[in-house]
Amino acid sequence: MSRRIILSSGNKHKVSEIKDILKDMPFEVISKDVLGYNDFDVEEDGTTLEENALKKAEELHKLTNGIVIADDTGLFVDALNGAPGVYSARYAGEPTSDKNNRELLLENLKDVPYEKRTAHFKTVIAVVLEDGSKMTAEGSAFGVIGFEEKGKNGFGYDSLFISDDSGKTFAEMTDEEKNKISHRARALQNLKKSLEERI
Ligand code: IMP
Repeated sequence: MSRRIILSSGNKHKVSEIKDILKDMPFEVISKDVLGYNDFDVEEDGTTLEENALKKAEELHKLTNGIVIADDTGLFVDALNGAPGVYSARYAGEPTSDKNNRELLLENLKDVPYEKRTAHFKTVIAVVLEDGSKMTAEGSAFGVIGFEEKGKNGFGYDSLFISDDSGKTFAEMTDEEKNKISHRARALQNLKKSLEERI
């Protein structure tokens, strides 16, 4: 029987992206929702993406048998000294709203010229193995924050993030295109390398 990887996320985009990247490995990849943990959540009160990702993975590991994977992502804007960063989800306050977050970001950058609107997404993925040992992997994607939203795909800050790799916003790209160059895809590829060394 193959070993089981449990994802701490119920986000369909993330679950299918992770399944796709790990598909040639000897793991059955399932979301926590399949195990009935739909309501599982932890307070993301760490000061780094790594702390938050590890906390999520460790808490779910206490409840389940198998390998647990959790991720945390932030958008770091240079002209804002790295904000919203670790606080990207709650940038415009709670309850969280992607639309309000994007509007606040545009407002805070309104006087910043194009060449100073550089930014990057960063994802940290934490893994807790069956025996409790841990590892993390990270990935980044670099780009510029546009002056207005462009594109209808994706979620979060996608319509504002003009990727250096494609010259388009993430929201103007198909899932397939984005999943080749995204911060999360790069973190997953790095994770895959570390997992291959451990199994
Ligand atoms: P989380 O760590 O995945 O919960 O994401 C933190 C914040 O970053 C949320 O506001 C998400 O909407 C945003 N975010 C995460 N991943 C992406 C992405 O791939 N594109 C755009 N925004 C994202």
